[in-house]
Amino acid sequence: MSAPITKPESSRRQFFNGTVRGAFLFLLGAATTLLFRRSQPKRTVWQIDPYKCICCTRCATECVMHPSAVKCVQVYPMCGYCKLCTGYFEPEPISLDTGAENQLCPTGAIKRRALEDPYYEYTIDEPLCIGCAKCVKGCVLFGNGSFFLQVRHDRCVNCDECAIAIACPPQAFQRVPADKPYLMKDREHQA
Ligand code: SF4
Ligand code: SF4
Ligand code: SF4
Repeated sequence: MSAPITKPESSRRQFFNGTVRGAFLFLLGAATTLLFRRSQPKRTVWQIDPYKCICCTRCATECVMHPSAVKCVQVYPMCGYCKLCTGYFEPEPISLDTGAENQLCPTGAIKRRALEDPYYEYTIDEPLCIGCAKCVKGCVLFGNGSFFLQVRHDRCVNCDECAIAIACPPQAFQRVPADKPYLMKDREHQA
């Protein structure tokens, strides 16, 4: 009867050393990757502080994109759903209907929909919006300020120096972390 085959002591030691070396290299690689990631500056993008914007209209004309990468957004929890929306209608509309002559928006980008009387919903058709801020100004003057401008990152090319930021009188543009790219309005900040 032949003796059982056992691994020689030297090959067991070689196997053990190889395993330890492998684990060590793996941990070293993971630590290096972590350190590398931590040392990288966080990517940032341009955004508008809605509480600084004075609706000067330059967002529509200064952007390198045509139409502008800046769009109006609507915060529904802040909106009054007003029948006479001062962001939608001209200051002295002929009538409170959707006739183009009554609308403040030069491109017809705001859609008005009747809800339960006397409430109306206002939504932005973004591809039509040129970022002129006329509706924002109208809403801030007499409404709740639920319309405001934001850089839309599906359109913005994140220029090193944003042409609008350079032209913006109140310096409302700032760089924000790319993983939190919007500066939203909320009721707590309402004047
Ligand atoms: S340039 Fe500045 S102040 Fe003028 S509309 Fe744009 S964000 Fe507002
Ligand atoms: S008024 Fe100007 S900012 Fe407002 S939705 Fe129309 S194009 Fe956009
Ligand atoms: S970074 Fe460039 S593309 Fe984006 S809003 Fe400014 S000018 Fe327009």
